[in-house]
Amino acid sequence: MQMIEMGRRGRNMAVRTKLVAGNWKMNGLREEGSALARALAQRAIAAGGGGLACELLVCPPATLLVTVGGLLAGSGVALGGQDCHAAPKGAYTGDISGEMLVDAGCTHVILGHSERRHGHGESDAVIREKILGAWRAGLIAILCVGETQSQRQGGGAFDTVSAQLAGSIPSGADSANLIVAYEPVWAIGTGLTATLEDIGAMHAAVRARLPTGVRILYGGSVNPQSAAGIIGLGEVDGALIGGASLDAESFWAIARCCS
Ligand code: PEP
Repeated sequence: MQMIEMGRRGRNMAVRTKLVAGNWKMNGLREEGSALARALAQRAIAAGGGGLACELLVCPPATLLVTVGGLLAGSGVALGGQDCHAAPKGAYTGDISGEMLVDAGCTHVILGHSERRHGHGESDAVIREKILGAWRAGLIAILCVGETQSQRQGGGAFDTVSAQLAGSIPSGADSANLIVAYEPVWAIGTGLTATLEDIGAMHAAVRARLPTGVRILYGGSVNPQSAAGIIGLGEVDGALIGGASLDAESFWAIARCCS
């Protein structure tokens, strides 16, 4: 997997390697999760060092992290969690800490996904504390932001995303500890995708609010048909994939769009 130079921004040269990340959400028992991990590992190993121009990451459910991590070992595909608690340990029934994710083999964690914001009432302040917890453990945080359909229709998409960034990114963020995923809520799991023009405009607005070199992924119903156009945009540093990441062929086809 080779480094690609995306361009020069400001006074610093920012080299941003594309990243294709799979969010398996609450899907997969051991048998199917293992089969998916094996299929990805086989493809990644066969592609070798120069076969893909991107990094790959999968974020399985917590129950599969150790199993999937073992099957991906040596393939170059990284492992991530889907959430973590802000504290390192303690009386938090049902939660997982960043330290536990690292112990299970993770290098990344998704935080602030819209399914956590809307399904679990997570505020920007809570997400900010979780990012600090992830950094304490040594994880790269993938912060998800995005507007709802009514916010977009009401003309508030940019203000919404801007407020999410301001409220949830702690000081100390840089390209080594933070990745942002722009995921319009109305596009997640719906088959709807933002237009290339809207994606480019939002990514440019997000980039203006981030430290140099922080990567920005797009997410929302990306599939092998739409991936090349989206990932090909200069402002887009890769994709966060939900549904299509549950099929090895589809996930691989999306990764190949980075070449
Ligand atoms: C997601 O959940 O982050 C996501 C982008 O899902 P999907 O690709 O299924 O829309």
